Amino acid sequence: MAPPRLIFLGPPGTGKGTQAARMAARFDVVALSSGDALRAEIRNGTPLGQQVNEYVSSGALVPDELITSVILTAIGKFPADKGFILDGFPRTVPQAQALAAGLAERGTPLSGVLNFSLEPQKIIRRITNRRICSNCNATYNLLFLPPEREGVCDRCGGTLMQRVDDREDVVATRLAAYEELTVPLVEYYSTQGILHEIDADAPPDVVEQNVADVIAELKGR
Ligand code: AMP
Repeated sequence: MAPPRLIFLGPPGTGKGTQAARMAARFDVVALSSGDALRAEIRNGTPLGQQVNEYVSSGALVPDELITSVILTAIGKFPADKGFILDGFPRTVPQAQALAAGLAERGTPLSGVLNFSLEPQKIIRRITNRRICSNCNATYNLLFLPPEREGVCDRCGGTLMQRVDDREDVVATRLAAYEELTVPLVEYYSTQGILHEIDADAPPDVVEQNVADVIAELKGR
C-alpha cells in the first residue's frame, strides 16, 4: 500500500494548515506548508527571507521559480517511502507542472488532491480572527478554536500573534491572487481524476473526519 502523497488545495483560511497538522499525526506523514517555510526564512532574516518578504507581507504570490525550488528541495529531503501533505503549494499551473516533474523523477507521484472550499465572506471572517503562535506555528481561531488563555499558545506557551497578511486589506489581495492564479488548478487536477472536494464550512473535528475518510480510502487503493 503506497503512503499517501497529497496536496491540500483551497483559498487561505479554509483550515488546510490545521487539517494538515492533524493528518500528519494521524497518518504519520510529513506536512509541509509553503507559507510556514517562507515565514521561517523571513523571521530568520535569511537572503531568501529578505527576497520574499515584500511579496508575503503584501499578499502577492512569490515568483514560481523561487517557491518551486524551495519546495522541491524540501521534498528531496523527505524519506522516499514517507507520505506527505503539501499545504499551500502548488498555487499556479507552472508550479503544479514543476511538482509533477520533480515527483516523477523521484518515482513518488501524487495520490490525491483535497480541495477545501468555503464562501468568501466566511473566509474573511475566519482569517481576520486567526492567530498563530510566534514560537511553534500552532494555529488558533478566536471564533471556533480559541486558546485556553488569551494570547498564549496551549501547546508551548508562546505568544499568539496576527500574521501581517491576515489583516483585512491584505486578505483581499490574497483572495484575488487565489482566484486568478490558483483556481485553474482545480480544473488541472480534476482532469487528472485525482481531485476530492472537502466542505470546509463545518467545525474542525467534522472536517477532520471527512478528510481522514478520504485519505483512508486513497491509502486503501
Ligand atoms: P499561506 O501561509 O499559504 O497563506 O502563504 C502565505 C504567503 O506566502 C502567500 O500569500 C504568498 O505570498 C507566499 N506563498 C506561499 N506559498 C506560495 C506558493 N506556492 N506560491 C507563491 N507564493 C506562495
